[in-house]
Amino acid sequence: MIHDVIVIGGGVAGFSAATALAEAGARVLVLEARPGLGGRATAFTDPETGERVDNGQHILMGCYIETLALLARIGTSDRVRWQAGLALTMIDGRGHESVLKLPPMASPLHLLAGVLAWDALSWRERLSILRVGAALGGGAPHRPAAGSSRAADAGVSGETVRAWLTRHGQAPRLCELFWEPLALAALNQSIDQAAASYFVTVLAQMFGPDPSAASLVMPAVPLDELYAEPARRWLQDRGHQVRVNAPAKVEVVDERVTGVRVRGEHIAAPVVISTVPWHALGGLFDPAPAALAATIADASALGSLPIVTVNLWFDRPVMHEALIGLPARAFQWVFDRRAIVGGASSHLSLISSGAESIVSMTNDELIATALADVRAALPAARAAVLRKGLAVREKRSTFSLAPDAPRRPQAETAIAGFLLAGDWIDTGLPATIESAAVSGHRAATLVVD
Ligand SMILES: Cc1cc2nc3c(=O)[nH]c(=O)nc-3n(C[C@H](O)[C@H](O)[C@H](O)COP(=O)(O)OP(=O)(O)OC[C@H]3O[C@@H](n4cnc5c(N)ncnc54)[C@H](O)[C@@H]3O)c2cc1C
Repeated sequence: MIHDVIVIGGGVAGFSAATALAEAGARVLVLEARPGLGGRATAFTDPETGERVDNGQHILMGCYIETLALLARIGTSDRVRWQAGLALTMIDGRGHESVLKLPPMASPLHLLAGVLAWDALSWRERLSILRVGAALGGGAPHRPAAGSSRAADAGVSGETVRAWLTRHGQAPRLCELFWEPLALAALNQSIDQAAASYFVTVLAQMFGPDPSAASLVMPAVPLDELYAEPARRWLQDRGHQVRVNAPAKVEVVDERVTGVRVRGEHIAAPVVISTVPWHALGGLFDPAPAALAATIADASALGSLPIVTVNLWFDRPVMHEALIGLPARAFQWVFDRRAIVGGASSHLSLISSGAESIVSMTNDELIATALADVRAALPAARAAVLRKGLAVREKRSTFSLAPDAPRRPQAETAIAGFLLAGDWIDTGLPATIESAAVSGHRAATLVVD
């Protein structure tokens, strides 16, 4: 079979590119090295219970335009639950519970009304948050491009999120209670390490003119049934191919791509799109073309950050909300899978973002830490019996967004016919599903235009 385009990688970026190309009339082959699809947003079968368990709870947002377009394309828009307006229950280190609720009003009135009603903060702190809102400004919906201009508008220049927040009058307690958990959720990196430009971009998208942009959109099925498996079926139904257990090497002759090699088999194609993560780019070539040496060196130098998830199954329900923020704890968010995905079992999923300090703990230590966090915050969990705990470590969940991190590459490369996609490409966004979807769509557009 003749392929117009080979897409390497069966994650969000790969399926965003492949489905957009297929829709535009190209014949596509997707190659995934692992036995299962989905990359960093996937699910596995728990060997003890047979239950499908996500590799980590993922949250989408109303501002994930390209991701939502992908779900619409493959027919899975009804597999997510939308929260009308942002509503977050937070339980602080002293056990005080509060709800930050942005009502469904026009922006920035929703931010104003929500923050002013949030009793976790003193009046002084509430008013100071509004200074950040003013720094972001209103205006048109923000579609970031390489070298995001919104960050430039907000006066961000190589500073960390904390430096930017401090410059905008945010007190340390406010940073601990509100900004740090928000930054960890959005960037997977502490406000002391991440560059302010990414945070400003995310905030501008969330709190832009469309109030639904800040809505949380939660997958209501195991992650691979949200997009990877449906995308595989969508492509195959239209005559395209998706192969797993297919680690690809890119073949280049005279600075032009000729196809790929998979376990000794040459597959020809005039265009190859790589969606492999930053740390895998160098491994695609044998040997690496000189024209890509700088791109590969930058990609290998990009730091990686872990996310640790602990799943806890209790003998009874212990929370009413779908998610609760636990600022200043090892696990910053707890999700009730029963409320999100349904089912009878009381299954909590606790997330530790930017989890460098706990990622080397043993499974038992991680489970004990998560259990202690839940029991400290949720009185109902103290009497409940823990039936089972399961820890999942994703050591290279996201890439570093530090101000001095190496440059992220563009989609086009110095090798003719070879394009880059993946969340780490220069989309102006942090390492998210949306960045991956944007990058895949961008590469597809470059091919068909
Ligand atoms: C635990 C966790 C929680 C997260 N939470 C969120 C969240 O709440 N919201 C959010 O927006 N984002 C979240 N993210 C980030 C999000 O999952 C990623 O940004 C996104 O999935 C990246 O997609 P991708 O297609 O760019 O890369 P990947 O998913 O890494 O896909 C790349 C694929 O390429 C394959 N590959 C590598 N080398 C080869 C080769 N030689 N040949 C063939 N295939 C190859 C890999 O096996 C992989 O399947 C989270 C990530 C993790 C790990």
